[in-house]
Order: sequence, then structure tokens, then C-alpha cells
Amino acid sequence: MHEWSLANGIVKSVLEEKEKNRAKAIRKVEISVGEVSQIDTETLRYAIENISRGTPMEGSEIMIDVEKTELRCRTCGHIWNFDEVKGNLEPVGEEGDNAVHYLPESISIFIKCPVCMGQDIEILGGKGVSIKKIILEVED
Ligand SMILES: [Zn+2]
Repeated sequence: MHEWSLANGIVKSVLEEKEKNRAKAIRKVEISVGEVSQIDTETLRYAIENISRGTPMEGSEIMIDVEKTELRCRTCGHIWNFDEVKGNLEPVGEEGDNAVHYLPESISIFIKCPVCMGQDIEILGGKGVSIKKIILEVED
């Protein structure tokens, strides 16, 4: 699963950061996950907790934020939020929302530009996964 390799990278980076700062503990890690990144935040959290077991990261508070996605129409340049169109999506059964959520490549099938009705849509933000903040405990 994609989440496990991401979790691996996250735990590695956090531990490296701890070493670099000669911190005695890792208090909190804030992670940002794009709205349409295909990442299941619960799976990611589970993976991080499992991988960090037995490392200095074990027991650290893990905060996962979902980052909003912006869309840009390649035809007219209009930029809007994924949130705004979510409710206007054509009902395509219960799977519809999930399809957009987990298959960002197919997003243009479901979303049209509200200005020119163009279907050549680019996803600007909220795609990837990143570490936003690491709070370390350092020696006085
Ligand atoms: Zn447009």
C-alpha cells in the first residue's frame, strides 16, 4: 500500500530531524495530506504508529490535516476550490465521491469549469503528503 511507503519516509525524516537537533524526545508531528491525494489518513496514521514502534517516535502525537485542493481551468485560467464543486457533482451513485477522492487523474471526468464549462482541469494544491511541523523536546 502507498500509505506504508509514505509512512516509512515520514518516520525516517522525523527521526533524522530529532538526531540533527539532538532532541531527547519527539512530542508532536503534524502532517498535511492533500484532499485528493489518494491517501487514507487512518491507514497512514496506523502505518506511522506501527513503523515508529520501538523508535524514539513511538508514542508521539500524530496530527494529520487534510489540505484543501485548488483547481485551475487550463482553458480560461479560472481558479476555484475543490470544496465548492463537490456538492455540485453529478450524482453517480454512492461511489461517485470516492471515485473523485481516490482517483485524482479522473477528476476532469467529474468536474467542469464553472466559468467556461471546460474539462481540461489542473489540480494545483492539496495533492501530496508533507510534514508540516515537528515539535521536539530538547535538553535545557
Ligand atoms: Zn474555464
